[in-house]
Amino acid sequence: MSEYDFIRDLVPTGVWIDGAAAPACGGATFAVSDPATGQVLTEVADGGSADALRALDSACRVQSAWAATSARERAAILRRAWEILIERTEELALLMTLEMGKTVAESRGEVAYGGEFLRWFSEEAVRIGGRNATAPGGAGRILVTQQPVGPVLAITPWNFPLAMGTRKIGPALAAGCTVIVKPAEDTPLTMLMLAAIFAEAGLPDGVLSVVPGSDAAAITEPLLADPRLRKVTFTGSTRVGKLLLRQAAENVLRTSMELGGNAPFIVFEDADLDLALTGALAAKMRNGGEACTAANRIYVHNSIREEFAARFAEKLATLRVGPGYAPEVDLGPLINERQRATVTALVDDAVAAGAVVRTGGKPIEGPGFFFQPTVLDEVPRTARMHREEIFGPVAAIYGFDTEEDVVAAANDTEFGLAAYFFTRDLDRALRVSEALEAGMVGVNRGVVSDPAAPFGGIKQSGLGSEGGSEGIHEYLDTKYVALTR
Ligand code: ADP
Repeated sequence: MSEYDFIRDLVPTGVWIDGAAAPACGGATFAVSDPATGQVLTEVADGGSADALRALDSACRVQSAWAATSARERAAILRRAWEILIERTEELALLMTLEMGKTVAESRGEVAYGGEFLRWFSEEAVRIGGRNATAPGGAGRILVTQQPVGPVLAITPWNFPLAMGTRKIGPALAAGCTVIVKPAEDTPLTMLMLAAIFAEAGLPDGVLSVVPGSDAAAITEPLLADPRLRKVTFTGSTRVGKLLLRQAAENVLRTSMELGGNAPFIVFEDADLDLALTGALAAKMRNGGEACTAANRIYVHNSIREEFAARFAEKLATLRVGPGYAPEVDLGPLINERQRATVTALVDDAVAAGAVVRTGGKPIEGPGFFFQPTVLDEVPRTARMHREEIFGPVAAIYGFDTEEDVVAAANDTEFGLAAYFFTRDLDRALRVSEALEAGMVGVNRGVVSDPAAPFGGIKQSGLGSEGGSEGIHEYLDTKYVALTR
């Protein structure tokens, strides 16, 4: 009996189709591991194309019946799922920490945040509107209605194993769509547990499927090629997002894309420094730095840079590193060795280019994939990390002298997801928030995510919004009915 046996009681480790877990066609499994130890947690069904198509068959069988349910029924199921999820906070949080590595405190936060998308969209389900107008010529009526898009493929990443799923499943179900989720291969357990919660909440069989697998394309390609699928929604790297957009073009699928970021975090000379330091800690270290909204480039006015760097390094140096489920740990491991190698290479490159290490700077010897909380100061803008996502606990500080220069530098990237800045000047707050090329801007705060607000990027960071009153429209088609008067 292993210490991880409890997972078997919580998580259906099969392919979740038609309201039940089943072995993958062919019977293959793959291992899911704890990034804090490298130890195998459990084996999970290794889904492939046959499983994916079985999930689509089942989605198509129930799509019209699900679309025809009343908004109140769909809302009640979402609400019930939210309630059960919150009741299971401790179990879900531990599971998420085991497969992903973040601290249990952060996992609890994700249960609350991720769960909120179910509650929020249960409330939005009953507000799907339309419009009615008289044609300007007077002879006809214009009736505009909103209808569910149809079967949706949702592909999710490992960094927020729950919330990146609920942010798609919540609005899709609220709109009346069926959903097939392909969770990340590193973290399929949380999504499988969620599927079981939905079944308990009364979601009809077939409306939600979860197909885990070690070969993502084997699952997603046959679905994208099948004319019955009507939408793909994805959170992950820009590289894979572009690939999926190309594949989605064949059947002209609706797409929502939440892709990579390279968030600037600007501290102006008139900022409240204490507030900026707290904001930087949140924007950099939330989720161990493994967030697409993470502050990737911290620009600090040269008149206060020295003080900021020293105080930030002091804060990061006190963070306790260890397994996310151990008591009194502030920072867990990175997701896997590949990610740690990427972070190490970016740090080495910056240091070779002249960055000054204020604290940390090195991977921590295993077991597990830990990296020291790191502050680099005076990073040259030619360093690779100025262009590339770090996705780890590494703060890169750059100096600047003028607003014009820092705004130009902040925008000098193909990404446009989140941006943050700190100032006490209202004029500047408005001017800079308009000038920054980002889908989300935090002013005097280091966290922007909120289920009630539209989350999304511009430029190569994505297409569409998740959350807010906007989020449900990603899963609705507009239909115009022309009536003769
Ligand atoms: P990351 O680099 O953060 O792991 P990815 O974009 O590779 O981000 O992964 C996000 C999600 O996309 C995961 O569920 C992963 O399995 C999936 N994925 C990766 N490659 C492909 C692919 N070629 N086609 C479809 N999905 C993919």
